[in-house]
Parts: sequence; C-alpha cells; structure tokens
Amino acid sequence: ADRFVIFGVPIDKVTMKNAVDIVENFLLEDRLHIVATPNAEIVMMAQNDDEYKEILNKTDLNVPDGSGVIFASKIYKEELPERVAGFDLMMELIKIASLKHYKIYLLGAKADVVKGAYLNLKSQYQGIDIVGFHDGYFSEIDEEEIINDINEKKTDLLFVALGAPKQEKWIYKNRNKLNAKVAIGVGGSFDVIAG
Ligand code: UDP
Repeated sequence: ADRFVIFGVPIDKVTMKNAVDIVENFLLEDRLHIVATPNAEIVMMAQNDDEYKEILNKTDLNVPDGSGVIFASKIYKEELPERVAGFDLMMELIKIASLKHYKIYLLGAKADVVKGAYLNLKSQYQGIDIVGFHDGYFSEIDEEEIINDINEKKTDLLFVALGAPKQEKWIYKNRNKLNAKVAIGVGGSFDVIAG
C-alpha cells in the first residue's frame, strides 16, 4: 500500500473505511498483525528512540492518527486522505466484532478502568464477545499467564492500552508468543470508554 514516511516513520494513506477493511482481512489470516496509530507525538518519540522507530517500521498497518501528520503530508505533497484516530478505529472494530462475533480481549489501564470499559462495552454492544480483560500494571512474571489467557481464549482482536511507546513495544516483544490475529495499541481509550 502507499505510505507517507515522515522522519523515518511510515504512515499508510488510508481512510477509516480502508483501515477497517484491511483489519478485517488481517482477521482472516492465522498470524499476528500489528496495527499502530502514529500521530505527531509518536513520530517525535521515535526520533530519540531507535527501537521504537524500528518497531513502527515493522507493523502491518500504521493509521494517520492526528492532524499534525495530515498537515505534514500536505506540505510534502504526499497527502494522507483523512484522520483515522486510534480511538475511532477501535470503536469501528468493536461495532464489526459485535456483528461478526470476533473475540475481543482488553489489556491495559488500571484494574477498575479496564473492568469499567468491559462492562460499558457489554451493555452498549449486543453480541459483543469480550473473552477476557486484564489491567496494564503487571510484572514480567505475570506476562506468561496473561499471554496464555489471551491465546487460550482464541482472541481475534487484542486491544492494548499501555500508552505509547510501551504498548507497541510490548506487542512487538511478544509477537511470536501471541496467537491473536490483530493487536492494536489504543493508548488512553479504555479510560474514555470506562467514563
Ligand atoms: N498504562 C498501563 N500500564 C502502564 C502505563 C500506563 O496500563 O504501565 C495505561 C494507563 O492507565 C492509561 C494508558 O495506559 O490507561 C495510557 O494512556 P495515555 O493517555 O497516557 O496514553 P496515550 O494515549 O497518550 O498513548
């Protein structure tokens, strides 16, 4: 696909509709696909963090999550079609997952927040299949257990809310252990959903 590269960070020239279609295709393939949502803040973080920059170059889809990167793409005459905010993408995917019964797992945020997000999503989306959730304040010792839980529950869509860059680094580090089909870092989205 066509990408705009800004300071070494590639961003796919996709609309929300394109991004949703791409993720739905990822769900048909039996391997982990990583989705990131670069905005200006993330592009700047990657400038002082080679590991982060490299990870952002190895994801399967990077959506343009911010007016700053859209503005920059216009200046470089490499126009990104529209803003695809991570939160909005998450909500679109949740809608589709509820209709098609894709299995969702929520990882991240404080324990009461992720539980609140789970309960709100359950009450707002009939047919939603949230197979599990876990807070984002775990030690390395707990990681294996969390990953086993994600895998045993046959997760399709894994939403990881640990903030950037932690969430992308965590997904990338565990990419060969995670059997989910799609993992996407969603920052503070659980806090918003929990209200
Ligand atoms: N968080 C977490 N574990 C951590 C650090 C942060 O689960 O070790 C959560 C935090 O509770 C919040 C989210 O990650 O829900 C970070 O949200 P923030 O808005 O800071 O991230 P951004 O959207 O800016 O990437």
